Amino acid sequence: MKKLVFATNNKHKLTEVRAILGSQFEILSLDDINCHEDIPETADNLEDNARQKAEYIYQHYHLDCFADDSGLEVEALQGAPGVYSARYAALEGTGEAHDSKANMNRLLRELKDKDNRKAQFRTIVCLIQDGKEHTFEGIVEGTINPEERGSSGFGYDPIFMPNGYDKTFAELGEDVKNSISHRARAIKKLVDFLQS
Ligand code: IMP
Repeated sequence: MKKLVFATNNKHKLTEVRAILGSQFEILSLDDINCHEDIPETADNLEDNARQKAEYIYQHYHLDCFADDSGLEVEALQGAPGVYSARYAALEGTGEAHDSKANMNRLLRELKDKDNRKAQFRTIVCLIQDGKEHTFEGIVEGTINPEERGSSGFGYDPIFMPNGYDKTFAELGEDVKNSISHRARAIKKLVDFLQS
């Protein structure tokens, strides 16, 4: 079976992708290829970050691979926090990186006096196969709720309400979220490409 590295150790993402592609590709994680370095993610946009991670694996391990990068883009904040979503509070010194509560607090504070609450989650997947690069994008549009609601998911889920629903991602739960999410949409495009 053809090997394909997914540049992540996130168990949830791996399970999701293996469930779809597992019969055609042997999907390997970073652990599986013994990659324990910190892969650089220093770009200022999602596209370049995903490409940077995929190229790192291709150059160091010579294996076909793909990498993803996601962020929340808020219209009234000119696309922030975007590529800095995980570090939004850390950037202003009000929380550690990946502190979801602190990140949401900052976002709600920045939007306090704004009427426009439109936002989108966006994922970029970069695939390198036989030395050629391919990019896939997934977007889910919605609005930022003024307070947190629900307890499932992670990150900004308690304040993101996808269009067409009156519940946040954290209230909708995993099954609904995974059927409409930015990540699911980008991965679906990747899968369609790999299967075509
Ligand atoms: P990653 O590229 O998937 O690691 O996402 C980067 C950051 O964006 C995460 O740490 C979260 O803050 C935010 N984010 C990405 N996807 C989601 C999501 O599905 N729900 C909530 N927050 C997300």
